[in-house]
Amino acid sequence: MRLRSNIVVIATRNEGKVKEFESLFGPKGYKVRSLADYTDLPDIVESGTTFAENARIKAQIISAHLHVPVLADDSGLCVKELGGAPGVYSARYAGEDATDADNNAKLLQALNEIGPAEGLPGEDGQPKLLSEAAFVCALTLIDPVANETIEAEDTCQGYIIAEPRGESGFGYDPLFYIPALGRTMAELTVAEKNEISHRAKALRLFLDRLPDQNES
Ligand code: IMP
Repeated sequence: MRLRSNIVVIATRNEGKVKEFESLFGPKGYKVRSLADYTDLPDIVESGTTFAENARIKAQIISAHLHVPVLADDSGLCVKELGGAPGVYSARYAGEDATDADNNAKLLQALNEIGPAEGLPGEDGQPKLLSEAAFVCALTLIDPVANETIEAEDTCQGYIIAEPRGESGFGYDPLFYIPALGRTMAELTVAEKNEISHRAKALRLFLDRLPDQNES
């Protein structure tokens, strides 16, 4: 498989994400652009019920508009005791303009209302675990000219704890505890998070599937 263009538009305005993608895509012969490089883009309603659907919706709408390959991602947190919530509503769990602190407070409130889960591991020195949980990241690239789609999805498994810990990262990181590391996601360095995060794992899968434009 070969894409018809060596330009990939990342469907984000987040400069951090763009830099991360640039460093991964450059060696494979791609030039990276972001939504910040374009004006008059169509509005997108993330109406999907799964992360993959939302990533597909974003990639489809923007690639049809720009006629170049577009890579979109969607991610969030799924908490077992809450039946998978907040899921695709992770960013707006506590309301449309919710802050990370609002969302974390709502998550703890929801878990406190149902009471502690049965059978969770509990070891000395370990914080109290409230529920199993997973971060999920889905990636979809659509090349509208070559009519090619490349998708990848991966997860990072952990537990929600009762008290936030750590200052780095963003979103639900301070409540997401990884027993094997003995730390929350917000207690990891950027490099450590990039080893194990849902986004890093999905990107590694995705890069394995992305054709090398330097070849042939
Ligand atoms: P988006 O895919 O960048 O729109 O992220 C959706 C939401 O999921 C974010 O606003 C966060 O609340 C949550 N989320 C996604 N990835 C992470 C992460 O690595 N750490 C903490 N929260 C995350």
